[in-house]
Amino acid sequence: MTGGTDRPIDLRSDTVTRPGRGMRAAMAAAEVGDDVYGDDPTVNRLQARAAELFGREAALFAPSGTQSNLIALLTHCQRGDEYIVGQEAHTYKYEAGGGAVLGSIQPQPIAHQPDGSLALADIVRAIKPDDFHFARSRLLALENTLGGRVLAPAYIDAATELAHRHGLATHLDGARICNAAVKLGISPREAVRGFDSVSVCLSKGLGAPVGSVLCGSQAFIQQARRWRKMLGGGMRQAGILAAAGLYALEHNIARLSEDHENAARLARGLADIAQIKVTMPDTNILYADLPAELCSLLDAGLRRRGILARVTPHMRIVLHLDVSPAQVDRTIAAFKEFFAA
Ligand SMILES: *Cc1c(COP(=O)(O)O)cnc(C)c1O
Repeated sequence: MTGGTDRPIDLRSDTVTRPGRGMRAAMAAAEVGDDVYGDDPTVNRLQARAAELFGREAALFAPSGTQSNLIALLTHCQRGDEYIVGQEAHTYKYEAGGGAVLGSIQPQPIAHQPDGSLALADIVRAIKPDDFHFARSRLLALENTLGGRVLAPAYIDAATELAHRHGLATHLDGARICNAAVKLGISPREAVRGFDSVSVCLSKGLGAPVGSVLCGSQAFIQQARRWRKMLGGGMRQAGILAAAGLYALEHNIARLSEDHENAARLARGLADIAQIKVTMPDTNILYADLPAELCSLLDAGLRRRGILARVTPHMRIVLHLDVSPAQVDRTIAAFKEFFAA
């Protein structure tokens, strides 16, 4: 391994970050109690802080984004209801069909536009009339960022307004909503405007080891707490984990701009390699298209140079707080060396 570190440069995801000294100190010092009894002061502080930051009445700490999204689906929808969602959305494609399996909730996926949005006309077409032949259209679930792309605030306003006009509730899978807010230069609260519920991952770019927060109205969160318990997400002295989440909300939002700069720096550096085609990122995620027959060679070549990546023909590269500008430059050099050989 080069460069004086024994840890590889890990570009597989922003979930790979490890808590640093400050975060670990906050975890070690956390006051705790039994959160199932509502007794954990640090969890309560995290939930209050998240509710404030995202402009909602209440929030609930969940062990994962997958569970937080599932709790939201189960809270919004009953058996035989459906949610309208993008084909590529995490809540449809990457959560093992949880809403259908555990909630008897039917997804109604629709195709994305090139910018990641769902066309308003497609949403309207997907909303079913009140007729016993159909599942009851109940919820519109959007995701921001989606594959690193930021949805335009005007689009979100229009989509959530349209959903509400048709009697649908709205949920945002905001796993990376803070990346969107920082990119747009708006507050997290502004970035989630129009949604009845919002799930935010603390364990992606924000750098906490575990956890998500689900934000919504008092009544929504009260019901959500029951679903969390049913799903096994009621944790006891969870303040140790919540302390990391609180630390992340206090220290790691504004700095996401560094990840965005690093992603752009990497994209620019890779742009003049003829064999790959790079898309310029909005936030911390970029894509590189490369010939399929090169994938396993590139994977090995990068590993040899101390870089971990998920090398596929449409390769996703993710920047995060454990990758420095110098490591970005080493990554560019490694790619160039590989493709020059
Ligand atoms: C990671 C992710 C989730 C799920 O979070 P986990 O904590 O990994 O379960 C949900 N939605 C999106 C968009 C994500 O990227």
